[in-house]
Amino acid sequence: MDRRSFIQTAGNVAALSVLHGTASAQRSGAPGKILAIAAHPGDGMFTMGATLAQQIERGGSGVLLSLSLGEKGAPKDIPVQQYGDMQRAATQKAAHLLGAEAIFLSYPDAELPFNEESSLRVCDVIREQKPEIVVTHWSGSWHKDHQNCQLIVRDAIFYAGLQTLQRSRPAHAVSKLFYADNWEDASNFIPDTYLNIDAVCEKWLQACDFYPMWRGQTGFFRYNDYYSSLAVMRGCLAGFKRAVALMSDPSQRTDRLQSL
Ligand SMILES: [Zn+2]
Repeated sequence: MDRRSFIQTAGNVAALSVLHGTASAQRSGAPGKILAIAAHPGDGMFTMGATLAQQIERGGSGVLLSLSLGEKGAPKDIPVQQYGDMQRAATQKAAHLLGAEAIFLSYPDAELPFNEESSLRVCDVIREQKPEIVVTHWSGSWHKDHQNCQLIVRDAIFYAGLQTLQRSRPAHAVSKLFYADNWEDASNFIPDTYLNIDAVCEKWLQACDFYPMWRGQTGFFRYNDYYSSLAVMRGCLAGFKRAVALMSDPSQRTDRLQSL
C-alpha cells in the first residue's frame, strides 16, 4: 500500500482531481458550479481560488463572492476607501484570469453582520447562481468576520433550499459544503478531501499576485510563502505534486450506498 492509499484508507480521506456535489454527478463525470464565499477578497482568492480554477479547468464553473472588500487591512499610507477599490480591482483581474466571476456585497470590513438581512442576501446570491458546491470559511477562526461569514453561509444555504421561503427566485438546494484551509481558521480544521491543483497552480499563483497583500505590501504575514508552500505540503499528503485540502461539513460525511 502506498502512502496515498494509506491516508485514503486510514483517514477516510478522498484524493480527487475534481469536486462533485453528488454521487450521481460523480458518475456522470460532469463538474458543476462552485460558489466560493469569503469574508474578504484575499481569503477568497488565496484559500478558495485554486479550487475554483481546478473546477473551471475540468469543465465546470466558478464564482467568487466577497462579503466585504477587506478595506480596513489598508497599510498606513493608503486611505481605506482607496484600498477597498484596489482590492476590488485585484479580485476582478484575478477572477478573470481564472475564468471565474467575481461578486461583491460590500459589507463594512471588520463589521460583517450575521443577521437575517445578510443571510437572506447570500441566500439570494445562491438562488441566482445555483451552485452544486459551496466553499467558505471554517468556524475555527480567530477573526470575527470569518466566523460570521461561516454562520451566514450556513443559514443562507438553508434558506436557499427552503421551498416555502418566498424570495425573488425559486429555491435551490446546494449539494455539498466544504470549508477552506486558511491560516486564520486553523482551530480544529480537519481536512478530508484533497484536490489535485497541479494543472492550475501556476495560474492561481499568478492570480494571487494581483493583491498587494500577497506581495507583502500590507503587513507582516508572508501569504505568498505560506499558501504556495501549503499547496506543496498538502500535495505530499495526497500523493499529488500540489493540492488544496478541504474539510466537508461534519453533517455531510455520510455515504449512502447500495453496496460497497
Ligand atoms: Zn480575512
